[in-house]
Amino acid sequence: MEYTTDEIRKALENHELQAYYQPQYDTVTSRIKSAEALVRWIKPDGTVISPCYFIGAAERSGLVTDIDWYMLEQVCQCLNKQDKSVQHPVSVNFSRVHIREDKFTEKLISVVDSYGLPHSLIEVEITESAMVEESGKIIDWVTSIRKAGFSVATDDFGSGLSSLQFVKDISADVLKIDRMLIDRNCEDEKERIVLESIFNFAHRLHMVTIAEGVETNEQLSFLRTCGCGKIQGFLLAKPMPEADYLALCQLQQTSEEPMDILKLQSPASAVNLLMGVIFRRYPLVIFSNLTRNSFYMMAYQNFTATSCPSTGVFDELIVHGTASMHPDDQETFATTFNRQNLLKAHAEGKTEVRAVTRQIGDDGIYRRVETTDYFVKSPSSDDVLVITLCDNLPD
Ligand code: C2E
Ligand code: MG
Ligand code: MG
Repeated sequence: MEYTTDEIRKALENHELQAYYQPQYDTVTSRIKSAEALVRWIKPDGTVISPCYFIGAAERSGLVTDIDWYMLEQVCQCLNKQDKSVQHPVSVNFSRVHIREDKFTEKLISVVDSYGLPHSLIEVEITESAMVEESGKIIDWVTSIRKAGFSVATDDFGSGLSSLQFVKDISADVLKIDRMLIDRNCEDEKERIVLESIFNFAHRLHMVTIAEGVETNEQLSFLRTCGCGKIQGFLLAKPMPEADYLALCQLQQTSEEPMDILKLQSPASAVNLLMGVIFRRYPLVIFSNLTRNSFYMMAYQNFTATSCPSTGVFDELIVHGTASMHPDDQETFATTFNRQNLLKAHAEGKTEVRAVTRQIGDDGIYRRVETTDYFVKSPSSDDVLVITLCDNLPD
């Protein structure tokens, strides 16, 4: 049964709507990192009504905008009851209806500023279906919110209307993965592959990931291996009244922070750390598929020359690279790294191929660079893959 707009408006005026808080936990350390505010209607007799019985009607009538602003105020008041040392960012759900609201960001700033809170403590959560509907407007909307220092989370990713295009176009900070994607308890192989891929692309886009609706230890274990950032679900905590949330934050404050080394226990985090080290050591890393004649670059910082395309056809990359070498080194580079010769070297059982050549930098000066190609086995096919580590050598 759904309530009417009049009934919901009265409830709002009578302060029967309240913010409940569901903590979001660090996947590895299980410590609270943030929370989501979820509206509840507390009837005078104490009955708690779930938003699914009134948010739909409130959205259709537009009343939901008042509810969301009211929730933001409640969240600000809640944060102001905490010491700075126990405050965590809280996300507030903003319905798609707000996209058409004039001066949304100005209002957001003025409410949060009126409580003297840093903008980094408020996250704006927008459901993904909103993005799909009005993708043009939404880009400007999200940009203006983020520019003002608030973070933006996209809710319910993977719940039906998901579009990868929106993830590509909208630079949200957080991707919330819907519980529908883990409803087979992460035991189904296809489910695991889909999840791994989502986490992979989200992390490459530098988004924080949150898995919603985590109810079992099996789900938690698998999400850890994916490098999922935070967990929100009944396994760790249900949405709770403000007083309980405040007490929980306080309790955590007095318990000891687990050692950071714990983070290494997840294989995915360990791989990420390792990648970080490799990128620090080698300013240019290229992944190529020799069989398919393709490549992409994973890092491109502080390297002598920066004019290379970051992805494309491998043969063209070698032509481009050769042209940037000193005339006396061009032949060496072209013969060492052309695809046919690399495939030949691989067929002969070589595990790596290396050459030092002089490359012209962005500043027009030649510098010695070392290029090493390592052959690796593709985990999913017979394709010949190569990882190239390039290093600037001292003059
Ligand atoms: P949502 O924003 O995706 O919120 C997550 C929902 O998943 C919440 O339902 C939460 O209680 C539920 N949940 C969390 N962990 C688990 C779990 O482990 N298992 C299961 N089965 N469910 C879990 P809730 O509070 O009923 O809210 C439903 C939806 O109503 C929200 O989905 C959001 O779209 C909307 N909503 C809630 N509060 C507000 C609000 O203040 N403003 C607006 N515009 N929408 C709101
Ligand atoms: Mg939400
Ligand atoms: Mg959600």
